[in-house]
Amino acid sequence: MVTRLQRPAIDDIQLVNQVVDQRQRGRNRGYFEGIRASWKQRVQHYIEARGNPEVVTPWARAVSFKTRFLSLYSSPQADSVQKPVLEKLRERTLQMCPACGEDGTPNTLDHYLPKTEFPDFAVTAVNLFPMCDTCQGWKLEKVLSQDGERLFLHPYFDEFLDQQVLQLSIGEPYHAPASMELRPSVNLSPALQALITRHIENLGISTRYYHFFREQYTHLLGSAADIREEELNMRQQLTLFRNKARRKSINSWGHIFYESVLANDPLLLYLETAALPGLEPWMQACAAE
Ligand SMILES: [Zn+2]
Repeated sequence: MVTRLQRPAIDDIQLVNQVVDQRQRGRNRGYFEGIRASWKQRVQHYIEARGNPEVVTPWARAVSFKTRFLSLYSSPQADSVQKPVLEKLRERTLQMCPACGEDGTPNTLDHYLPKTEFPDFAVTAVNLFPMCDTCQGWKLEKVLSQDGERLFLHPYFDEFLDQQVLQLSIGEPYHAPASMELRPSVNLSPALQALITRHIENLGISTRYYHFFREQYTHLLGSAADIREEELNMRQQLTLFRNKARRKSINSWGHIFYESVLANDPLLLYLETAALPGLEPWMQACAAE
């Protein structure tokens, strides 16, 4: 699930000034000088509205000349002010996708407000963050629901992402769970729960999580067998697994998984006492002795 990211250490208003200054040697100098003040106000508006597309609407003066902005992003000149900013944002330092929480290094840079509809934010750092290819394929140019509500969480502005926002419930039977369900945390307000639901539905996260869940659950049964064989404490050992996953992010897929296991007393009892699928040959061997 979404992970909160530190806002880039870039003054986006100052960046507009610098871009317009650099345009003074080019063909479109009149256009950019003419919109300098309004463009800065637009970026200020984005920051104040926290990028929320329910508030920030497209700007016709930019949309009509979108190629002038898109080229700033897609083909920045070597000495341009935005080039190092974009390079910094593309540094592959994250080990998970901030939009879905899946492990791996996100490959692309996403425009939270898409650059075709909002070309004036094409190089605005606070509108850009790394995203995995799968999320990007789901998100496309989507912004708002049919009811005009924003679809996606914003990793720089949605501070509540510091807490766990999704809960997993695991259904019986525990040797091979028939169901799992991801849903927004009940600790969040109804409005935030609705936002989280829109976010996970529009990025296909439940289906993607299900594949991860099946693999993790098989690991869990194996770990439970090991823990019993070593005569260790089940809850304590699984707590260590959970804490390790939390170090990555409280909303990482692994943390949501182990948190749900530890909150599920019947499942813990099963792991502690039942004949585990992986244990069966060993148990049978003991019984035969
Ligand atoms: Zn992703």
